[in-house]
Amino acid sequence: METEGRYPPRVNPTGTAHIIDGRALARDVKAVLTARVAELSAQGHPVRLDVVLASGNAAGGVYARNQATMCAEIGIEYRMHEVPSDADESTVTTRVRELNDDDRVTAIMVHLPLPPDVNAQRVQALIDVDKDVEGVNPANIGGVIYGRRTLVPCTALATMRLIESTGVSLRGAEVVCVGASTIVGRPVAVLLMEAEATVTSTNVHTADLAAHTRRGDVVIAAAGVPGLVTGDMVKPGAVVIDVGINRIRDPQTGERRTVGDVDADSVGSVAGWLSPVPGGVGPMTVAMLLRNTVAAADPDGASPAQVR
Ligand code: NAD
Repeated sequence: METEGRYPPRVNPTGTAHIIDGRALARDVKAVLTARVAELSAQGHPVRLDVVLASGNAAGGVYARNQATMCAEIGIEYRMHEVPSDADESTVTTRVRELNDDDRVTAIMVHLPLPPDVNAQRVQALIDVDKDVEGVNPANIGGVIYGRRTLVPCTALATMRLIESTGVSLRGAEVVCVGASTIVGRPVAVLLMEAEATVTSTNVHTADLAAHTRRGDVVIAAAGVPGLVTGDMVKPGAVVIDVGINRIRDPQTGERRTVGDVDADSVGSVAGWLSPVPGGVGPMTVAMLLRNTVAAADPDGASPAQVR
């Protein structure tokens, strides 16, 4: 993320945040990937994604069906491997090992949650490092620390892409991460350090969250708490990336809907840039999964310029 000068090159003076259009950015990524998948296929390297899903995992099932559609759209072969909802760990690990050993399989994803008797971390650690397109194998997570930009966790990568799309320079910027999970908050913090930002990582025990977020040129909300970040917690003109996906019941209509960790109404009138929920990090995360899937099949290495 190299841009000229120090942050902020542009502050939105109108008091209304520019909305970062994750869907449009994801479409652009997919167009590039479609071309690359066709090239790889023509060179004898078909791209394929194999997913493991426990039957009865309703949310995972919906996600998997969406994935299948998107893979078809860009020419990636998609195969789903269902395991019984009461499968033991060896049933799941045997399946993952088979996929690891199959040369036709170039990318593997294991949908969570797994059956109750299965330790997800042990299963994730088994996925072949070069096929681990979610970047959940400890070796790939460790690779992030060493700046090995190959199979980076998809949501962390998506967050970086959305910040990058604003044109702000991260070098020397104050960035505050709200949430420090192994799959989002921590990898994002490390990627930001690599971009030479000054990074503050906060968590549920942080004493005065607002005191930190108010200093942020960039704020990343990834706590899983609906509406946690409000306008009074944000510096005018800041870039605010909302990673949260929370299903709530609307108090007025009684209907269920998806909201982020950011109170979009109040933050939208203070921030310079805001990634919305839905339509921000979510679609870009899917695009990054596809990006990793294409990279994993690419014999030129996992991070060719074409699939940046
Ligand atoms: P997690 O529960 O594993 O971790 C939450 C983190 O937030 C923890 O570090 C916790 O200490 C911190 N936290 C909780 N309350 C806080 C508070 N009041 N102040 C500061 N920190 C607080 O969650 P996760 O898996 O990282 O997910 C976070 C959110 O991001 C969820 O809403 C999840 O659905 C969403 N998510 C979205 C995507 C996507 O593709 N857009 C992907 C993964 C997760």
